[in-house]
Amino acid sequence: MSAEEALEYIKSHPEGALQSDLWKVLKIDSRKCSRIVAKLLKDNLITREVETIDGIRTYRLCCTIKPRSKRFDPLLALDAFEPCAGCIEECVPEHCAKLSEWIFSIVMGADGNQDIERIGQ
Ligand code: SF4
Repeated sequence: MSAEEALEYIKSHPEGALQSDLWKVLKIDSRKCSRIVAKLLKDNLITREVETIDGIRTYRLCCTIKPRSKRFDPLLALDAFEPCAGCIEECVPEHCAKLSEWIFSIVMGADGNQDIERIGQ
């Protein structure tokens, strides 16, 4: 069981995950869970607040890494932002290298290994 798996579990709970649940879900003992939590705290990847559930003291663990907003995803091809947004250049789309590169990156797909012959179809 790794700290990465623990972090993924915590991240999947936007309201925070209970440490008392974490070690059970990850099928590790509470001592090992405490060591993993200590590492995540040391790396500033999570925060920890004391919480009492049914009279039992535990911790609520929250991930400090906020999920990336999907607001601009329609304007992204791979990691390239749509070039026309905010562009102030003289516009001749048929001859625009930036636009052509962006469209090409969409056509090539995320892994960039699409068959070039398929592009013309
Ligand atoms: S097509 Fe090219 S020049 Fe025109 S707005 Fe888009 S990026 Fe700018």
